[in-house]
Amino acid sequence: MINKNETLSARRKRASEIVRILSETYPGAHIALNFGTPFQLLVATILAAQCTDVRVNMVTPELFRKYPTPQAFLDAQVEELEQAIFSTGFYRNKAKAIRAACAALIDRFGGEVPSTMDDLLSLPGVGRKTANVLLGHCFGTPGIVVDTHVKRISNLLGLVHNEDPVKIEFELMEVVPKESWVPFSHLLADHGRAICIARRPRCQVCPIAPLCPSAMV
Ligand code: SF4
Repeated sequence: MINKNETLSARRKRASEIVRILSETYPGAHIALNFGTPFQLLVATILAAQCTDVRVNMVTPELFRKYPTPQAFLDAQVEELEQAIFSTGFYRNKAKAIRAACAALIDRFGGEVPSTMDDLLSLPGVGRKTANVLLGHCFGTPGIVVDTHVKRISNLLGLVHNEDPVKIEFELMEVVPKESWVPFSHLLADHGRAICIARRPRCQVCPIAPLCPSAMV
């Protein structure tokens, strides 16, 4: 049973311990998308919607060789661009989204990816999740990325009691140590793939089971 009456300080202590154990369990946890610049990471995150990071990483080297700048994406033949990203799925929408973001970067930010949450959110197709990915990995501004793993496992752990991604982000910022905000989502992603698997969590072998109110052991 999740204890909804747990004090904030007790929850913070538990969150720190969870992060510590997961960091030891998954020392290689890191962003799975390959990128060299903020612009490349922006494009990669758009391509990663409904697609695996592995697949995106197969597509982006050639894509960025062909289209190295926002202007190059705008100058591209749409059909050629769609062909280049076809294997990531939803290629028509993604081509549109990439080009809309490129147009906004050129119109309002001199062709560069902006470095604040507000400016990032003003780009078409960029929500808090993508903005936090960019802020945390390119601009040294920690944020908590709330993806499906973070949403599901944070609730199972009783670190949050919410289904709304924005509310989850802010609730987690209250309890997860700030220095762990960026790695937090990578740790939960690795844990969600290896042990806390959706619909069949392996609680018997889970190193954070003693700290998890949902543990079935
Ligand atoms: S104890 Fe079970 S439900 Fe809790 S985090 Fe571990 S695998 Fe997930």
